[in-house]
Amino acid sequence: MQNKKLIIGNWKMGPIKPAEAKKLFEKVKKTAVTLRKTDVVMCPPFVFLNELGKLSGSKCSLGAQNAFYEAEGAFTGEVSPHMLLSFKTKYVILGHSERRALGETDEMISKKVGMALRVGLVPVLCVGEKARDEEGKFLQTLEQQIKASFSGVSKKQAGGVVIAYEPVWAIGANATGAITPASLLETVIFIRKILANMYDLPIAHGATILYGGSVDEKNSAEFLKEKGVDGLLVGRASLDAEKFNKILKIAETI
Ligand code: PEP
Repeated sequence: MQNKKLIIGNWKMGPIKPAEAKKLFEKVKKTAVTLRKTDVVMCPPFVFLNELGKLSGSKCSLGAQNAFYEAEGAFTGEVSPHMLLSFKTKYVILGHSERRALGETDEMISKKVGMALRVGLVPVLCVGEKARDEEGKFLQTLEQQIKASFSGVSKKQAGGVVIAYEPVWAIGANATGAITPASLLETVIFIRKILANMYDLPIAHGATILYGGSVDEKNSAEFLKEKGVDGLLVGRASLDAEKFNKILKIAETI
């Protein structure tokens, strides 16, 4: 658990125009710079990183939504994590379920996590089950994703990975709704247990764990109050400056 809250906005594939992206970033930055107990990260599409990097700062950092596991070479369409550093990018979302749905495997994600750590980016590793079942088999999926993604991560590096627990059934426009705060707490305890088994108790206790999945200005307080999580990964609501700023102000008061 961290003292400060971490709120990350995943803009996904929006907004379309650079001017809109700049306006959104500026509006959120205005709120972000007033916060003392909350760190804010915005993750726009790659093409906006250059311009937005000029506006970012310690209170309002920049993250990418993906990065490749090789530094350079014949990989058409991929973006090297080294390139991201030139645009003041500090974080990188890896293993998002929307990328897993396009074919990204645990093995690729593990290589990406290792590469991001080597170049000095903070990986925001997304894990989460597609569906829940009464027998609790979904917990095995989670365990497998975490073990595979951390397979190349040393004990020294482990604290540098942010884990975003994002149950797939709770993400995006087709979501069946957000998780309940009680189930979230149980799941986060389970994730910390996995880390304790893989590393040790201080790593498990100190890990930064976020929740993502249909978070908005109406439900964010209940997740943050639950104490199990250190912050939120917000998708759709991060594209609306008013909603996202409300979430930031709520985080600051909890
Ligand atoms: C996401 O894209 O990571 C996400 C959590 O989306 P949403 O908040 O829209 O469900």
